[in-house]
Amino acid sequence: MCPEYSEVLVRYGEIGIKSRQTRKRMEDLLISHIKSALKEADVKFSKIRREYGRIFIVTEMTEEASNIASIIFGVVSVSPVMVIDAGLDTILETGLELVRRRFKQKQSFAVGCRRVGTHDFSSQEVREKLGAAILKGIPEMDLSVNLTSPDQTIYVEVRNQNAYLFTDTIEGVGGMPTGSQGKVVCTLSSGLDSPIAAFKVMKRGCIPVFVNFDNTPYANDDCRAIVTEQAQLLANYIHNFEVKLYIIPHGADLDEAEIHGPPKMICLFCKRNMLRMAREIAMAECADAIVTGEIIGEQASQTTMNLRAINTAVCDFPILRPCAGDDKSDIEALAHKIGTYRFAEEGLSCCTLAPKYPVTRGKVSDIQQAEEDMDLGILKKQVDQAHIITLRRG
Ligand code: ATP
Ligand code: MG
Repeated sequence: MCPEYSEVLVRYGEIGIKSRQTRKRMEDLLISHIKSALKEADVKFSKIRREYGRIFIVTEMTEEASNIASIIFGVVSVSPVMVIDAGLDTILETGLELVRRRFKQKQSFAVGCRRVGTHDFSSQEVREKLGAAILKGIPEMDLSVNLTSPDQTIYVEVRNQNAYLFTDTIEGVGGMPTGSQGKVVCTLSSGLDSPIAAFKVMKRGCIPVFVNFDNTPYANDDCRAIVTEQAQLLANYIHNFEVKLYIIPHGADLDEAEIHGPPKMICLFCKRNMLRMAREIAMAECADAIVTGEIIGEQASQTTMNLRAINTAVCDFPILRPCAGDDKSDIEALAHKIGTYRFAEEGLSCCTLAPKYPVTRGKVSDIQQAEEDMDLGILKKQVDQAHIITLRRG
């Protein structure tokens, strides 16, 4: 009799090349996130165990568990597996049965094998013998061997006393486990780029604190609702850490900029004020950086000279721009993948102050001079009026 899939094999990437201590800490984090995600989705499992370089979820709900584990940061890929004794005869017998159940007829196939531990057979022997057994044992399926680009593959992973058999691998989201890095303030505008920027740093293990600046009366009220949805969607990737969204009024400082600054520079004043307020939140939240969705050259305010001019508002604080080098098509592709593209389709323009001919080579001295006439004390008052939404409890 052939056993059912009874475990999910979880593969991780860079964690595996860390020092022993770091690796243990990161594996612990990853396992705790997998556990929480499974519990939240009500996917029953009896335990999660680890072997060198691999994590195994023991569950009868292998399909559901695979889907959930694949979207946890740090997971490179997952496969539902059959677990059997690492004897050659058992491998051949079970392998044949798995092929009968999972392979399509009249197609080409290959056998993959990896082996860890001491056995009285080699991985090449497994490949050859299982391949031959499949051709001979199930002629009615009319399968042929193709080792370079097979239509389907059966894999055997032999690890000490166990062998794991599988045919499917689901690609994981990759990255590093949440909490392996510190908190970062992710600015979210309701546009396409900033959620991608947030996703990219979250994927590397950062814990996000989302911040939106509410441009009312210079923006559509709907922006708030969109940002909240975007932040919620992103927060769903986080487990075991609290995630907050700050919505901060940003109308009064725009009034100041409009009254005292040249209109063609208003986007620079706006961005500088956002960074100043984001830094306040970062300090309060003990966050290590501010993240924006700026892309070099995408907007007038995103020329290298203007980015430099914007930065000087918060010289003492790191600003991360993970999308800086992306093409718009890269951003769109990722937005489709993670589900944030639909917000862009709503096509909201969130600021009516944007000038027709904005400055592209902003000079820091000109900006600072104009700012001298502005009441920047407003910024602190606005931060104090922040509306805070908790998206996920830690
Ligand atoms: P996006 O697609 O992210 O909205 P954009 O291409 O429209 O960006 P800008 O409006 O110039 O460009 O914004 C640049 C970055 O500044 C955004 O990616 C975001 O990080 C931040 N930002 C802009 N507006 C807001 C806002 N209202 N609230 C929070 N962050 C903002
Ligand atoms: Mg942009």
